[in-house]
Order: sequence, then structure tokens, then C-alpha cells
Amino acid sequence: MLNIIQIPVLTDNYIYLLHDSVSGETAVVDPALAQPVLEILDINGWQLTYILNTHHHWDHVGGNLELKQKTRCRIIAANSDSERIPGIDRGVFEGDVIALGSHQATIIETPGHTSGHIVYYFAKDEALFCGDTLFAMGCGRLFEGSAEQMWTSLQKLKVLPSLTRVYCTHEYTQANGRFALSVEPDNVQLQQRMIEVAKLRLLNKSTLPSTIEVEKATNPFFREDNSRLQKKLGLEDQSAVIVFTELRKRKDSF
Ligand code: ZN
Ligand code: FE
Repeated sequence: MLNIIQIPVLTDNYIYLLHDSVSGETAVVDPALAQPVLEILDINGWQLTYILNTHHHWDHVGGNLELKQKTRCRIIAANSDSERIPGIDRGVFEGDVIALGSHQATIIETPGHTSGHIVYYFAKDEALFCGDTLFAMGCGRLFEGSAEQMWTSLQKLKVLPSLTRVYCTHEYTQANGRFALSVEPDNVQLQQRMIEVAKLRLLNKSTLPSTIEVEKATNPFFREDNSRLQKKLGLEDQSAVIVFTELRKRKDSF
């Protein structure tokens, strides 16, 4: 079994620590900071094997160099971002497979939030580490890509098996859900999800991971092909990309 530990850091970031007890190998996804990771490694008596970065933003790579120096781990990230990922050892491409013990992750390139953004998909473990591409009821802002590029990237995630757990890097769920409700006020599953999310946040608990299935039912950026949503936007029978572009635009100023 792949042991997954969620570490909340900064205002709303999550670092994920992955451990395979058979091989003893351990990976960390997007270490914004080194110290909280070192503490959990220490508590469990684990040695860090890899850092897996999804993209170059500081709140995803901030702990890279300190962790590398203290644990001698290897850093894996998109080859196209070799110049921007501190300490990178191995640059990966779409379709590459990396292994943590017997657990394998496929690299999926998802440009949009940044040009070199990648996600790590552990098919057998039904787990997706999607960085700032897909959020609960939302998606990443377009800093280095077009809406069409982001839409294309999200299509690659939308087709993953419905029970795949979605491990996003930020606790943006409640704010995203408020926007989702503004464009789909009649979506009953969305209404129910927001009640559950409110309960969790009141207790300061994490709302993640989500699943592909839940996102398909409640995330407007996965529902650009829904006719009622299109009608609400005044974009009936428009292409999915046009609807997606309008959604992203509205969310930016929501
Ligand atoms: Zn980012
Ligand atoms: Fe981020």
C-alpha cells in the first residue's frame, strides 16, 4: 500500500509525503518548505528518496534545496522546466513512468497554470497529484498558458477513472465552491458538497483529496459541456473551449 500523508503548510498549501513500506522508499510532492517534511520523516524514521515537483512556483519548490542537501534525495520535475526547478536531477516528459518501490506513476503534461506543469498519476493506487492544475471545484489560474491549453490539459484528467483520488496542492475548496454555485445554483450535488465543505472548514479540517467523480459532478471547469451551465452563461451550443474560457474569466474577477 502507498502511504500518503498530507502536511498543511503556509496559508493554504498541502505537501504530500508518499511512503512505500515494502521498499522503504519515500517521496514528497511539492515541498513548499523543508522543515515540516523533515519533521514527519524523522517521526516515522523514513529517508527521503525523491522530490516530485509539479511546477516551478516557489510555494511548490521552496524546500527543494534544503531537503536535497539534508537527505540527498533526487529531484524529479518537468524536463522543460530544468532551468526553473531548483536542484533538478531528472527531467521527465509526457508518458514517462517513475517508480516508488513497486508503485508507478505516469507523468501527464498539463500546461496552463505554468508552461511546464506536470501531474503524477499513480494508476494502480488510484491517486493523482495534480499541483495547481485541478482544484476541488476549480482549476489553476492561467499564468503562462492560454485557456485552450488549460482546457486541453484538464481533458486529460477528466478521463481518468472516476474513483481516482485527487490530491490538490491548495485548500481553495470553499472559495471555489462559492464561484461554482454562482454559475450552477441549481446543482444539488454541488449544494450538498458545499454543506459538507463548510462543516469541515469550520473545524479547520482538510477537504482533500477529492475524486474525479466528485469533480465531474461539481466542478464547473469539468462541466463546460453541461447545457444548463452554458445557458446560465448565455453560451448555449458554444464550443467547450469558449465556455471554459468564459468560466475562467469570470472566476478571475469573482
Ligand atoms: Zn502555482
Ligand atoms: Fe501553488
